[in-house]
Amino acid sequence: MAIDIFKCKVCGQGRLETIASYAELPRVTSDCKPWPAGGAMSCCEACGAVQKLSDETWFDEIERIYKAYQIYQLSAGSEQVIFSEAGVAQPRSGALVDFIRRNTGSDSTGKLIDIGCGNGSALKNLSAAMPRWSLYGSELSDSAEKALRQLPNFVQLYTTPARDIPERFDILTMIHALEHMPDPLASLHDAACLLNDDGRLFVEIPNVLTSPFDLLIADHLLHFSPAHLSYLASRAGFSVSILRDDLLPKEITMLAMRGGAELERPAPARTRAVLEANLAWLIALLAEARKVAAAAGTFGIFGTSISGMWLYGALRDRVSFFVDEDASRVGNAFEGVPILSPAQAPAGSTVFVPLHPDVARRVAGRHAGTGAVYAEPPAYRPPT
Ligand SMILES: [Zn+2]
Repeated sequence: MAIDIFKCKVCGQGRLETIASYAELPRVTSDCKPWPAGGAMSCCEACGAVQKLSDETWFDEIERIYKAYQIYQLSAGSEQVIFSEAGVAQPRSGALVDFIRRNTGSDSTGKLIDIGCGNGSALKNLSAAMPRWSLYGSELSDSAEKALRQLPNFVQLYTTPARDIPERFDILTMIHALEHMPDPLASLHDAACLLNDDGRLFVEIPNVLTSPFDLLIADHLLHFSPAHLSYLASRAGFSVSILRDDLLPKEITMLAMRGGAELERPAPARTRAVLEANLAWLIALLAEARKVAAAAGTFGIFGTSISGMWLYGALRDRVSFFVDEDASRVGNAFEGVPILSPAQAPAGSTVFVPLHPDVARRVAGRHAGTGAVYAEPPAYRPPT
C-alpha cells in the first residue's frame, strides 16, 4: 500500500500543505554539516503541526546523512555546550539528567532505556547521576557500544526496532530523537509498550515556537510545539505530567506516564503563523548575510553549530574563518576553514552572527573592541 505522504503525522486527520518558500533555503544536517536546498516543508491544515514531507527524497537524504554521521566532530567528540546569557558554557545533557534524577529519585533503582542514544553522551551522564540504575540504549548502529560498555551500570545496546526489545523499563528517554522518527506516533506507541505500568516517558525536543534554525535541519522530520508534543503523546496513550519550555533554551521537556484521555487537537493558526514568520526571517537573514559578505574584505561566521554551518553552506567561497566561543572547537578547521577564538578574529574583518537578534546583540557586545566588526542579523518580526 502506498504511504500517504500528505497525511499529518501528529493528528492523522489533516492534509499537509506545502510551504513553497522553504525549497529555496539551503539546509544543514543535525550533525552540523551543510546540506543543499530542496527540502519540502509543510503545515497541517487541521492541527497546524509543522513537518517535512517524508517522501522518497527525504528517506534517501536521511540514509545518506546517517551513513556519514559524525556527532560533535569539531569538538573531538565532546558534547556540545550551551551558553548562558553571560557566555558561560555548560554541557547540554547535564541539565536534563539533573531533571530526570530529581523527578525519579536518585536513591531509587530501576531500569532505564535511552532510545536513539547516539554516541551515549546522555547515558554517560545518567550513569554518573543514577549509579544504582541499570542502563540500556537503542540506536540504529552499534558504533557506540564499545564506549557504552565502559559505563559500570550499562547493560545492553539494542539495534533492533524498539518493539522487538524483550525487556520492560521504568524510565524511557528520547533525547533529541523523536524529531528524527518517520512515524512518531508509532514510536510513542512502542515506548508505551516498553514501559512498566507506572513507567515514565521523558522526551526532549526542539521547540518550533522558538527555534527558527531547527526548520533547516534536513533530518528533522517533525517540528513540535509544546501543544503538539503533548497532543501526540496523549494519542499514544500517555498523560503528560510535566511540560516545560524553559529547562534548555529553545527546547521542550516532557515527562509523561501511561494512561489518560486524548487531549483536544491543537488549533492550526498559531504554528502556521510562526512557521511563516520564521521562514521569512531566515530568508531575510540569508539575503543580509550575502550582502555583508559581498561588501566585506575578510568575512567570517560566528559559530560552528547548526546556524553557523548552515550559513557556511550558503556562502562557502566567501568565508575565510569561523569564530567560536567553545574552546574545544578552536584550532580545528572545517573544509580547511579555520575555527578561531574571538580574540583571534583578524582586525578589520567582518564576523556575521547568524543567531536570534537578541542573542546576536549580546555576542557582538561581548566582543566589541576585539578589532573585528560583528554584523547582526535583520530584526525578527514576530507572527501577527
Ligand atoms: Zn495535523
